[in-house]
Amino acid sequence: MSLRIRDVVRIATAHRQREGAGFIVRRPFPGFELDMVDPFLLLDEMGPADYGPGEAVGAPDHPHRGFETVTYMLEGAFEHEDSAGYRGRIEAGDVQWMTAGAGIVHSEMPAREIREKGGRVHGFQLWVNLPARLKMTRPRYQEVPSSRIPTAQSEDGRARVRVIAGEALGAGAVIDTHIPIVFQDWTLDPGADVTLPLSDRLSAFVYVFQGSARLGSDGRLVHEGQAALLGPGEGVRLRGAEGETGRLLLLAGEPIREPVARYGPFVMNTREELLQAFMDFEAGRFGEITRTAERK
Ligand code: MN
Repeated sequence: MSLRIRDVVRIATAHRQREGAGFIVRRPFPGFELDMVDPFLLLDEMGPADYGPGEAVGAPDHPHRGFETVTYMLEGAFEHEDSAGYRGRIEAGDVQWMTAGAGIVHSEMPAREIREKGGRVHGFQLWVNLPARLKMTRPRYQEVPSSRIPTAQSEDGRARVRVIAGEALGAGAVIDTHIPIVFQDWTLDPGADVTLPLSDRLSAFVYVFQGSARLGSDGRLVHEGQAALLGPGEGVRLRGAEGETGRLLLLAGEPIREPVARYGPFVMNTREELLQAFMDFEAGRFGEITRTAERK
């Protein structure tokens, strides 16, 4: 197998900021160093945060239109409900792939027991853009419990992967994506060394969220909290760093290459569509979350 290995062409260090009702996220992009990685609009690492009783906050009722949000929990649990009457819970290792499409109003909150008694929350939210032809598509949910997420490992066991989207080491994802997407959670022990084929048509980056890892043909060392944009090629080489285990997300997707008009929770192609989204939301056309008295 002789693949041209994609090298690191840029590193963006995540900054910490407040989101929703005030929870802390580490956000590699969008930011000053990296605006987006078409088709990806945003990546947030939520926590890891240890909340005391009554401290945990989330993102109460808010709308989305024109893209997809992907939530992947590592620790803790989130509760979700929306204007279509849908309600769910995402636990450690689970994935929720939500296509907001034409629009929903939803709330994303740490699970009730974490809000009340405290606990640890750690996870990710990724925003995946939709092409113009799909921006107003019907909202759709794909929820995959941890037990159904395919896993694989290298022959020496030093590299292990959970395949949320795409394919790695013979494991293929169960999630269906509108455009070709790779979303994988890798654990690399010292000595791990894997090379994966990855179509040159996809833009790709790696986000290291624990320890460090070596990327590309030159083994560039990338540290926790850094996103590394990968250049052209047909292969991705991931290696463990010396002395510590690293964990990272490998993300790749086919660029949409359309104009992006974004503001807050709306991502459209033009300013006019953005304005329309605001007007539709203000007019209540996204609906609202109905709650019965016994739920708070
Ligand atoms: Mn949301």
